[in-house]
Parts: sequence; C-alpha cells; structure tokens
Amino acid sequence: TLRLNHVRPPMTMTIDLHRLTVMPVAHILGFPRIGSRRELKIALEAHWKGDLDDAGLRRTGRELRARHWELQRVAGLDWVTVGDFAWYDHLHTATALFSAAPERFGLGGTVDLAGYFAMARGTREQPALAMKKWFDTNYHYLVPEVGPTTRFSPNRDWLLPEVREALALGHKVKVVLPSPLTWLWLASAEPGFDRLSLLSLLLNVYFVLLGELKALGVQWVQIDEPILALDLPPEWIAALPVVYRELASAGPPILLATYFGSVQAHAPLLASLPVHGLHLDLVRAPEQLETFLAQWPQDKVLSLGVVDGRNLWRTSLVEALGGLHRAHAVLGERLWISASCSLLHVPTDLAHEHRLDADLRSWMAFAAQKLDELGVLKRALRDGEASVWQALHESARIAQARRQATTTRIAAVRDRVASLSEADATRSTPFPARVVRQQDVLKLPPLPTTTIGSFPQTAQIRAARAAFKTGKLDEAAYLEAMQAEIRFAVDKQEELGLDVLVHGEAERNDMVEYFGEQLDGYCFTENGWVQSYGSRCVKPPIIYGDVARPRPMTVAWARYAQSLTVKPMKGMLSGPITMLFWSFVRDDLPRRDVALQLALALRDEVCDLEAAGIRVIQIDEPAIREGLPLKKADWPAYLDWAVRAFRVCASGVRDDTQIHTHMCYSEFNDILPSIAAMDADVITIETSRSRMKLLDAFADFRYPNDIGPGLYDIHSPRVPSADEMKTLLDRALCVVPMERLWVNPDCGLKTRAWPETEAALRLMVGTAREARAAL
Ligand code: GLN
Ligand code: ZN
Repeated sequence: TLRLNHVRPPMTMTIDLHRLTVMPVAHILGFPRIGSRRELKIALEAHWKGDLDDAGLRRTGRELRARHWELQRVAGLDWVTVGDFAWYDHLHTATALFSAAPERFGLGGTVDLAGYFAMARGTREQPALAMKKWFDTNYHYLVPEVGPTTRFSPNRDWLLPEVREALALGHKVKVVLPSPLTWLWLASAEPGFDRLSLLSLLLNVYFVLLGELKALGVQWVQIDEPILALDLPPEWIAALPVVYRELASAGPPILLATYFGSVQAHAPLLASLPVHGLHLDLVRAPEQLETFLAQWPQDKVLSLGVVDGRNLWRTSLVEALGGLHRAHAVLGERLWISASCSLLHVPTDLAHEHRLDADLRSWMAFAAQKLDELGVLKRALRDGEASVWQALHESARIAQARRQATTTRIAAVRDRVASLSEADATRSTPFPARVVRQQDVLKLPPLPTTTIGSFPQTAQIRAARAAFKTGKLDEAAYLEAMQAEIRFAVDKQEELGLDVLVHGEAERNDMVEYFGEQLDGYCFTENGWVQSYGSRCVKPPIIYGDVARPRPMTVAWARYAQSLTVKPMKGMLSGPITMLFWSFVRDDLPRRDVALQLALALRDEVCDLEAAGIRVIQIDEPAIREGLPLKKADWPAYLDWAVRAFRVCASGVRDDTQIHTHMCYSEFNDILPSIAAMDADVITIETSRSRMKLLDAFADFRYPNDIGPGLYDIHSPRVPSADEMKTLLDRALCVVPMERLWVNPDCGLKTRAWPETEAALRLMVGTAREARAAL
C-alpha cells in the first residue's frame, strides 16, 4: 500500500557526534505552553471575544516562548525545544503547518490564525474538528480529517518564525515535530480509506521543511512517534524505515522520541533506522533500558527519560543517578538525559504555590523544577557528584523525609486493604434474585425513567458556591441556598413525572474535587493548572497519602432530598477509578492499592447512604475506559483491579439496595465482560449519538443486568423531537429485553440550561409512557 514519490537512497552517517555534543546532553521533549499564570488562556479568551487583536495575542505567545526557553537555558539544558508551543493544540498546529485543513472549512490552500481557530472551535456553518484524548493522558488533541482528496503543502508560518525567534535569542535549537506516521495514525478518515496512502505526499512536506530547518542552523530535530507505544498493525511498523530514510535525508540529525510505554519489541528495527538518536520513557517502562543498552549502535544517541513528565513528584536524584551511571558507562557521550515525555502534562511552576503544606510542597516538582533536576543530573555526570552535592543531598533528604512521613500512612487503612476478601468484593446474592427484591421495594413501572445526576448549574448556584468559599455567605445561608436548589430540582422532577429522582448536584464544583476535598490523603494546589484542550485547563487534585473518609460526604444532602419525595432518591457518588485517573496520584504506592483505598472510603459512603434510607445509589465511573493501558496485553491486569475496586465500593449493601453506575460512552469494544463483572444493577451509558448502534454489542454479549441507554444527547441545547426519541427507544427495545431497559439522557445536565432540560425531559418521560402503554 505504500508508494513513495521520492525514495532516496539510505543516507550514510556523516555526522560526527563528538563535534555535536559535549557529554552528556540534557534536554526536554516539550514544556507546558499555557503559562504559570495561565497567560495563554487569558489572551486566547480575550482574542476570541474580540478584546485582543492578532498582534496582542502573538505578543503573549512570544513572551511565553521566550520565558520558557530561558528557563531551559538557565537550568543548563543543551537545547531549547522549539515547536512545542501551540495556540490550541500541537497536533493541530502540525495540521496547519501541512496546510491540511479539511475542505469543509473552505479555508482554501493555507491556514491562517483565524482559520486555525475556526477549525478548533467550529464556525456557524461547520462543527469543530473532533477532540480526542492524547493517548492515556487527560490532554485532548484535535483530530485531523483526511481522505482521498487530502493534499499537503508546507506553510512555513507555522514553524519557522518560532525557530528564528529562538535563534535570535541566542539559543541552540532542537525543533520538535510529530512524525508523519503519528499524525496520520491520529487522523480520522471514512471507513475503508487507507491513511497510509497519504504518506508519500506528506513526506514531501517534511522533506521541504526539514531542509529549511537545516539551512536555518537547527542542530537537531525531535520527531515524536508516541504511537510506537501502541499495538500497531504491521503495515504501520513496516512504514518506519521508509519514513525515517526520507526524513534523515533531508535535514538535521533526528532524535526519534517515543514515550508513554515500552518500545522494546521494536528494538532491532529502531536500531536499524537512519536516525541519530532515540528517546525512551524510562518512568513508564524502565525495563526496556537493558535491551537497548545491550544492542544500541555505536553511532547513535540514547535519550533516557528519567524525570517523570506525567506526575508532579520530585525526582529522587540519587536513585536516578544510579541508573544513569550505568548507562553512562555503556554509552559515554551518547547518553542524553530528559524527562520521560513532554512536560505538557504537569503544572508549570511550583513557585506560585503558597498555601500548600510545606512538607507536601517540598515533595513536588512542577515543569520548571523538573528542568532544574535535569540540570543537576547532567552536571553530576559531567563534573562529578561533588559538583552538585548540595542539590543531591537536598534531594536525598527530602526523599527520605517523604518515605518516612507519618502523614502518608494510616495503619487502619493499610490493614483494611490487606484484609479485603472475595466476599467484600461480591454482592451477597446474584443479580436475578437481587433485582426481584429491589423491585419489591422500589415498585418502579416498566421502562423506569431517571437522569444521570446533575441539573443545570445556574449562575445563581455558582454565585452561592463562590460566596460560600470566600466566606461571604455563612454556612447556614449556604445550606439554605443549596436546599432551595434541591427543592427546586425535586419539584421539577415530580412535575415531569420522573421515576427515580436525583438531588441535582448543585453543591458540587467538580465530580472529583468535591470528594477529594472531603477525603484524607488529598491536597490541592492554587495554580497547578494543566492544559486539557485549547484554553481549557484543569487543576487535578493530588493524592499524596492514604485515603480515608473522616465523615460522611453526601449523606445530609441525600437525606434532605429524599425527605422531599416519596419517590426513590438516587444517591450520587464518583467511583474509585474516576477519582484515581482524574487526580495526580502518589508514586510510592501501586495504583491498584490507591484504588482500593478509594473504594473503601466510598464503600463506607455507600453504606451510610443506605442506612440513611437511600435505596438507589449511583457510582459514576466515566474514567474506567480511559484508564485502559495503551497495549492490549496490559488490559487484563488493569481491568482486574479496576473492576475489583468498583465491586469493593459497591458490595457492602443489602440485596434490595440498587446500585447504578454511569459511563459517558458505550464503546466498550472487548471490555464488555469486565463491564458486566462490575455487576452494577443498572448501567447508564451514552448511546444517542450512535443512534443506539453501540447498544448492539450489549445485546450480542447478552449483558445480564439493567441498561439505560441515553435517549438524547445532552451536549447541545437542541431539544430532540418526540419522533427521534421514540425511534431510539424502539431500537433499544429491539435489542434489550423490556424488563431490563431504563430510560434516561446520555449524561448529566449540568452544562445545560433549564428551558431545554425541561423540554427534553418532558418528551423523554412522554416517550417512556407511550411505550409502556403499548406493552
Ligand atoms: N453524576 C454526574 C453528573 O450527572 C456524572 C458526570 C459524568 O458522567 N461525567 O454530572
Ligand atoms: Zn456521563
């Protein structure tokens, strides 16, 4: 399938590495672009509102780049990395660089800044490019769209000015670009279209651009190939030699960067590529080092990612040096040291944290601090450990303090996890018998209706929460305000005729932070922002110690809500796996143990809700699928502990207490057995956008428990017609037995306004009633 226009003869290695590098080199794969004060977010949003012109926005970008390069230089890194900046997303910047705008945007041949944002954010006529999670991170990239008519041409404006900027500032420059293979792999296309058929066209663009980079005096190009950590089809692997032969013939020496997993399986192939270096993620996959040390060619650099680019803990430098000394002995000056992956995934600068507990703060290193760690490691190898003894001593002291800290260990929690039995992770009665008892208590009609938890987070709700947080509203007044919101939501649901009600989640800012704030073992930053997509940043909570629940978290709200109605009120919790994946997690305890600690804390909440008279409890697990490891071989082990954590959380209740779970998708591919093994009495999922097609997998698998496939899309204010809902419900009835089917929206309604919420729910309840009448 692979045809190249210009296959050039393999290049011979003419570069003298001794001249290029003093030993050893320190560098990073990328730096967070948003700014330690979210300067880029602020500028972008002002620009989109029309309050900041192109020139003003560009000035902010220039200042941020200059600042971040300077940090790299001052830390003692050998190159500044250029090309990691992006106005919205680096993969999208590559799309603009290749002039690969989908035709539907009508941008013509080239993409300017306005066109770039039009694709990222959508226009009146065209929806935005789809967004997807970047591998197993919480960062989202914009999915390129390709097809038979896709053509590429280099648009230098998207790269060369930044390179010139860095050179003009006197920096030595390493440019980063996504590999053409990675870009094509991440692109979407109509089924049946072979994305690899575009490779030769795309390589032409790289050929031109790399040649120009070389002419500008760029000394290295880092080509990011993260897809090598996935299970790739053989055609894609087979394309590697072709790609790198072409790229190597054009420009500066190439560092092929892999991350997020082991590439050990490809070691011989990687050694044979005409690249000058390879980067390995040794935080995620330390075991691959031996393989590469044993067979790495004499003329190639090995860049070792030893500082964690995915987490915010300080590196134990002495430990890292232990490994590096060995590598240094083998590789000599061919050793480079780096962070495991781009620092995009960690917050920018710890210097802006003033309220963190001093011990906790001392255990952390944000992106800026990680640069310093690399500088120290480099000097220790180059000039001897004595040259940096203070930094090493400090690092060792802190590592020891953290290991010995009493604040991270709660004996009772450890004991409880250690003594968990199979019975603790199993409901006492199988579903078929349980559901009969539940029905005796709940007495729900066929096709029961419910919602996923949250109701519109109105300006009034946000204002009340904010006022309470800043002390402007006292506790009694806040309680009253939230109870008024609950009354409002309950009245609405009664009037709409829903069967299982919710309290509406008005008191929750975020489904993870809300619980994290009430659990021991969690801490929070003031400015620990990480880019999620575009200008959107998240400030993930941090799990630093053993997780415990000092007191009930949701019971008072649930009890109040239940007191307002005779209908069942659904208690609402975030599940252990979601709590884990949407936080920064301690790196001194296996994730499965942290998950079990979370599960036990939440299990106590589940039991307390039951004791308070709540008969239906939903445990949301939208993150279960995104936690799936990148390689399929690692799935079973993950699914095993993830499912167990959920079951521990859910299994402390009586048979007649009904456990729901919710996931914001329904593409379960081959993990349906695990989803079924969670053994929730009811699962609600997103199915409206696939028009119930994704439900087929549940039918084929004969999913045993109750299912609530979403009857309408909550992601837009559009209210569907009664016909659409009826069609979807009829389809669901074709594949799910009527006694197992629930009726609900796709997801929570917090991003919606009341008018469309009411209208859509009224139609939904009406659709269910009509269907019942026809049974
Ligand atoms: N219960 C949550 C809500 O309704 C679920 C959110 C989610 O699934 N992401 O908002
Ligand atoms: Zn959802």
